[in-house]
Amino acid sequence: MRVMQGIAASPGVGLGKAFLYVHERLVTPHVKIEEREVPHEVERFKRALASVATEIAQMAEATPVDNSEKIVETHLLMLHDPEFTKAVENFITTDRLCAEWAVERVLNSVIEAVEQGGDPLLRERSVDFNDIKVHLIKELMGQSHSDLSMINEEVVLVGDTLLPSQILSLNHKFIKAIALNGGGKTSHVAILAQALQIPTVVALGNITEKVRSNDQVIVDGNLGEVAVRPSVISLNKMMERHERWMEHERQLREIVDLESITPDGFKVALKANIERVEEVPLVLQSGAEGVGLFRSEFLFLKPGGADEEEQFVAYKEVLEKLGAERPVTIRTIDVGGDKIIPGMAGLGEENPILGWRAIRFTLARKDIFRTQLRAMLRASNYGKLKIMFPMISGVEELESSLTILEQVKEELRSNNLPFDEEVEVGIMIEVPSAALTADILAPKSDFFSIGTNDLIQYTIAVDRGNEKIAYLYQPFHPGVLRLIQMVVEKGGNGGVPVAMCGEMASDPLAVLILLGMGIGELSMSPHNILKIKHIIRSVAQREAKELLEKVMAMDSYLNINRYLREWMYDRFGDFFTA
Ligand code: PEP
Ligand code: MG
Repeated sequence: MRVMQGIAASPGVGLGKAFLYVHERLVTPHVKIEEREVPHEVERFKRALASVATEIAQMAEATPVDNSEKIVETHLLMLHDPEFTKAVENFITTDRLCAEWAVERVLNSVIEAVEQGGDPLLRERSVDFNDIKVHLIKELMGQSHSDLSMINEEVVLVGDTLLPSQILSLNHKFIKAIALNGGGKTSHVAILAQALQIPTVVALGNITEKVRSNDQVIVDGNLGEVAVRPSVISLNKMMERHERWMEHERQLREIVDLESITPDGFKVALKANIERVEEVPLVLQSGAEGVGLFRSEFLFLKPGGADEEEQFVAYKEVLEKLGAERPVTIRTIDVGGDKIIPGMAGLGEENPILGWRAIRFTLARKDIFRTQLRAMLRASNYGKLKIMFPMISGVEELESSLTILEQVKEELRSNNLPFDEEVEVGIMIEVPSAALTADILAPKSDFFSIGTNDLIQYTIAVDRGNEKIAYLYQPFHPGVLRLIQMVVEKGGNGGVPVAMCGEMASDPLAVLILLGMGIGELSMSPHNILKIKHIIRSVAQREAKELLEKVMAMDSYLNINRYLREWMYDRFGDFFTA
């Protein structure tokens, strides 16, 4: 058994056999097996050998071209060569290597030998040997087809990285949990996993090298732990912890209909972040007072994108279901960065995180922007819509966006298409330059929503999806806290309500700070709403202000983190700090 520690990215515990998916390059598992596992491992190797041989023979029949026939012949000869089979089996039985590792060892030494040998003809064949190696290892790893949408049995998906589009393409009912080498707590893969309620741990480093296909894996998305081939004892321990967490969740259900207000009367609107229309029932169950962030770009992740009518139908459905009492803030598309949408943005850039993203993309592709604004405005008749622009970095971008919005409104008026003339238009504050110029942006905005996922990334210069520097991604960095406070003050002075929709809004440790600053709206994944409401209902804003004063005088995120943890522990026991 092996227990690996990563970053908890989506809560819950999931258990099942591993489906191994390596996206970028082949990383062969190097697992030492036990003596009793030897026959099983040899059997696995033989089965993989047979199935690759059949596949290659079938491919040859389907494409009978002279040259490919020769290649195929070489491959088949190799696969049926008893010397080769014996060498692999030896590594399994004598050195106790798992089958993938044994195949790699044998074929690497064959490749090395032919490459260093004098025969140029033979040297060319090293490509063939490498092909066989990759084919066989992938077969052993259960990756003969890497189309994840084909998974049709219950598995734990273990991978290096996943694209947001891949997560969406999964048949979710079969994915018991996800464990990834890479990623960060606020990467979009983590955000989608939460939306789909799949327990997930990211930033595990090299889990793809420690797990073989079909190994039993248990993923604890609350604590960020993954146990590979768990013992009965650790399995029971994790399930016990899971039960306790479920009990917390059940207790929290009791406050679902109660107001989100501090004991001394400060009201905080708790809203939901959604990525897909299908999440609306969860939003309603959570007691959310609206949708504070609808990440509309996920409508475009499927081939062909979404035309005006499709968008209109989606927006209308969300607005109607939420009703006039619960506002829905739809953000114009934020593609690019880690949200690669083929045919749109995010591909082929040297530095996509600092590149052609969000409002920069839509201002360049006005056709897409106008179509979206038309669909949104048409839908505004069916509920309480708010429009939000992402990644605004300065007043020019805001002015250009507002001009386009005005043009679209004019167009609708002249076509006699009704829309809400009072629709509020706000911006995300997620680029440091916007935070620093919040007073300039305030007169032109109906509201601000602080996007801490990006604001932290750009303030500390730390890629939010890169596990190697995840330790630097710190919401309580004094630089981040000062920027947030500045936005709240400048927004407040300009009469602009300030909300927060980044992941920080749902961090139990951060809530006290946000309460102290006087942020009146927090938007988060629906499953987090009740725990945040519980804190708000338990702590007076007066206390939060005192705490804020202490925190803002501290010099490091380590000290702030420790202080907040202790404070929360004293007040709530291990309810939030376990
Ligand atoms: C943010 O940056 O905090 C945010 C909410 O937007 P996204 O996570 O979609 O970038
Ligand atoms: Mg953002």
